[in-house]
Amino acid sequence: MTDKIQKKIGFYPGSFDPITLGHLDIIARASTFLDVLVIGIGVHHGKKTLFDGDTRTKMIRDALDTLDICDFELITYDGLTVDAARAANANVIIRGLRNSTDFDYEMQMAGLNHTMSPELETVFLPSSGKYGSISGTFVRQIMQMGGDASPFVPPNVLTQFENRK
Ligand code: ADP
Repeated sequence: MTDKIQKKIGFYPGSFDPITLGHLDIIARASTFLDVLVIGIGVHHGKKTLFDGDTRTKMIRDALDTLDICDFELITYDGLTVDAARAANANVIIRGLRNSTDFDYEMQMAGLNHTMSPELETVFLPSSGKYGSISGTFVRQIMQMGGDASPFVPPNVLTQFENRK
């Protein structure tokens, strides 16, 4: 035990294309055991997204406006998650788990990240029941096909989509 009190800084990486109620649930729950949450928006070259990095950042900031959560920062990054997490001085990487497909992928990713950065732990949060079926891919399809995505995303995301050029 040392006297040094270290801030618990979490790094939550994702594409957030767009932010969904599932992401917001993970953010709210992670914020209960963190001092600071850094949300890392992956803007990797060559990855085609519906919303550009600035718009994804704005949608997250607007959505978090209404939530009572710990201190947070939004960053974009286009390199390795472990490098971005280290640059943010994070101690833990936060990831959400919806199902066994996520589990298999996330376990592999956590293993690789741990090998590259043993000082960083990955903490998994299981999705809350009603959010477990929400994925960015399906939300994008629903919005692009004119469906009602309001049960899956915060209202500001719908407005952003409607106002796009
Ligand atoms: P990525 O492309 O990195 O998977 P996403 O934006 O799709 O980016 O997801 C970011 C993180 O949020 C991942 O850990 C993912 O498992 C988690 N996540 C996404 N949707 C949900 C949800 N509905 N419930 C819980 N976690 C989720």
